[in-house]
Amino acid sequence: MHIHFARIKGNSRGICQQVCITFFISVFMVTMKHPLTSQIPGLYSPTTLTEVNSPQSPLGDSLIAIVGARVIDGLGGVPIEDAVVIIDGNRIVNVGTRDEIKIPANAIIHNAVGKTLMPGLIDSHLHSVNNDEFLNVILKKGTTSLRDPGHPFRFYQVLDFGKYAMPRAFLTGSHLDGYPGVYKDHAMLVKNHGHARQQVYDYVSKGSSGIKIYFRLPLEYYTTIVKAAEACHIPVFAHLELVDADDAIRAGINGIEHVTSFGTAIADPTAAMEFKNNVRAHSSARSDGRYQLWSKIDLQSERVNEVLQVSAEHQLVLSPTLTTFERQSDDPRAKEHEAKAFKNMLEFVGMAHKAGVKIVTGSHTSGWYADYGWAYQREMELLVESGLTPMEVIQSSTILNARYFRSESRIGSIEVGKLADLLILDANPLDDISNMRKISRVMLNGVWVED
Ligand SMILES: [Zn+2]
Repeated sequence: MHIHFARIKGNSRGICQQVCITFFISVFMVTMKHPLTSQIPGLYSPTTLTEVNSPQSPLGDSLIAIVGARVIDGLGGVPIEDAVVIIDGNRIVNVGTRDEIKIPANAIIHNAVGKTLMPGLIDSHLHSVNNDEFLNVILKKGTTSLRDPGHPFRFYQVLDFGKYAMPRAFLTGSHLDGYPGVYKDHAMLVKNHGHARQQVYDYVSKGSSGIKIYFRLPLEYYTTIVKAAEACHIPVFAHLELVDADDAIRAGINGIEHVTSFGTAIADPTAAMEFKNNVRAHSSARSDGRYQLWSKIDLQSERVNEVLQVSAEHQLVLSPTLTTFERQSDDPRAKEHEAKAFKNMLEFVGMAHKAGVKIVTGSHTSGWYADYGWAYQREMELLVESGLTPMEVIQSSTILNARYFRSESRIGSIEVGKLADLLILDANPLDDISNMRKISRVMLNGVWVED
């Protein structure tokens, strides 16, 4: 079945009602297909957002017991040593220590002694253009859900015909930008408030689970978009260069993509103004301009403190995508100001975390210091470098992203009732976050991913 809907209630627009009805019909069908779901209250609440594709489900009666692993549940609790996790079909139905859990006689046992079992990884920021081969590569490395913030739906036609298994794909539709736009083939250029609103409803009817604002869209449209998205129960996130982060947050956005989006709000105002003038004249000026701006930022200034307070008060989610900006001082390819700027970006993310901003893991697909398909794991390492503990980074990569996706009733932790999206590692990532690279097996929707 093709799950292709979003969940809306109480919106006066016909489109949202129509989508809503489609949703409940689909829930009914899912419930029929998986009788277990009917026993789990609130599982498909109207605010639970879903992917646009439907991963393969186990064939026939599938009962799997993963036995002996250390379980990191994604919620930040003390790991369970020598655990047993039972998976019935595509659901986790029991979790506990070997002493507590009775393994059903007909279960297929997967021996995971000495290994670490954790929820599948969720990537808040990945771009793809009909590339199922790449999506399969990252699935094999543990990413079981991704969001592509800003690519049009047509870049994901591969979900219907691709020959490889792919993660759950949460899509947003083209990003909403202002004239003259930046990436015209990815963008929807907003003409007026009514048009902005209509785009949100249109995207939702196509399965959008979030709205991405791009950096040339003027601030005056933010509230219009946020209100339309709120009516449809989907979050709004932005990539900023010309609008200051605190203004965008006050306008009601839920998330900020890229640490660099904070630059103009926390830099010296004159430097920020110069940066904006340059970017307004030529969008491409942002690339080096960001490093120039960040190389001179004083992180001890009162501005930084104020902006972080506003961010925390509004329960902002930040997907820093550090990997994409990484420049190391011992790398001859990196200029001095770039390396200095990157150091400040790292430090700022640590400060944001301390201030209470929710940090989530987004790979942004690639980076200088990430081999093909490893950008996500590099991002986890950089988040540890910025000051998060490995346990916190695992939460950033699982439950916090599940909440950012508004899908935490389905994914993001190892708990009874959740979908069986799992990752088994050969070594403990709490000892060293680089152990995230030591992949043993990946399960998507109760099905082992083929190596
Ligand atoms: Zn992006």
